[in-house]
Amino acid sequence: MKQKMEPTVLSVVSSTPLSASYQRVVFRPQDPARFPPNSAGDYFKLMFSSQGLPLERAEQAAEGKLFLRTYTIRHVDPNTHDLTVDFVNHRAESENQTDAADLISLASRWALDARPGDTILVRGPAPIQGIDTQADFLLYVADMTALPALSVKLANLADDAVGLALVQVADKADIQTLVKPAGIEVRWLAGDATMPLLEQAVLALPVPSTHSAVWCACEFGQMRTIRRHITDQWQTSRESRYFSSYWKAGVTEDGHKILKQQDTVEFNQQ
Ligand SMILES: Cc1cc2nc3c(=O)[nH]c(=O)nc-3n(C[C@H](O)[C@H](O)[C@H](O)COP(=O)(O)OP(=O)(O)OC[C@H]3O[C@@H](n4cnc5c(N)ncnc54)[C@H](O)[C@@H]3O)c2cc1C
Repeated sequence: MKQKMEPTVLSVVSSTPLSASYQRVVFRPQDPARFPPNSAGDYFKLMFSSQGLPLERAEQAAEGKLFLRTYTIRHVDPNTHDLTVDFVNHRAESENQTDAADLISLASRWALDARPGDTILVRGPAPIQGIDTQADFLLYVADMTALPALSVKLANLADDAVGLALVQVADKADIQTLVKPAGIEVRWLAGDATMPLLEQAVLALPVPSTHSAVWCACEFGQMRTIRRHITDQWQTSRESRYFSSYWKAGVTEDGHKILKQQDTVEFNQQ
């Protein structure tokens, strides 16, 4: 699998706030060939040591327990292969965690403090699953963690695609201009990341009478409610549905990974 590739080093070119809730980091890869322009939309994993420090050299990847954090390549500069990555700033949400404070929000805190020249080891990139974009109606559901992936998906659609994208953001200041076909409406829902705005919006939609395809990536609890509803009520084939939880309120990515695997097994058994 692509994602099992040897770790590679990225250097920070810049780290700047897009808004109070998003920090944009531009990275320059040590191995540009590994990140061709069409790797925009793929994900990779930032690597941290057992002490929560960024790994900087390939040989450190063999050292005991590591923490991995998953992020999406929002854009690849076709000339320099610089990678644009948008990090949700959720430092405030982590204050009630029971884990040691220096081992939570590793990635979010790292991005906020990143300086030009800082380096970090990553695994990847690897692609995420798509949907049947030839379906009569396309529904996209994303929160801020999945907005980078959504932006690439919409930009790559055919001009005649028809559908709706529901996007939950923390604040109106997080609304972005997306490249998309005219037939795709984007509805922005502003509210705290823990508010179930996406599930409320999906459950309130009229059920389409034609074959639809659905791409949904957001918080675990919301994803599960939306997946249940779409699978039961909408005309979609298994191949035209993608549901993925990108994070879970109250647990770090390490805990989320285990719950996500359990959830996938349980859902597939139903
Ligand atoms: C395929 C994939 C692609 C992803 N792409 C991106 C991306 O491009 N940008 C991005 O920001 N995230 C992305 N994520 C989500 C990101 O991996 C998680 O949010 C991750 O937990 C962040 O790591 P951390 O070290 O900052 O926080 P952790 O240490 O994992 O979590 C600490 C605490 O913060 C909470 N928390 C984590 N994320 C959020 C959040 N977004 N909002 C509110 N509270 C949160 C946790 O529940 C926990 O309580 C992606 C996830 C997947 C699976």
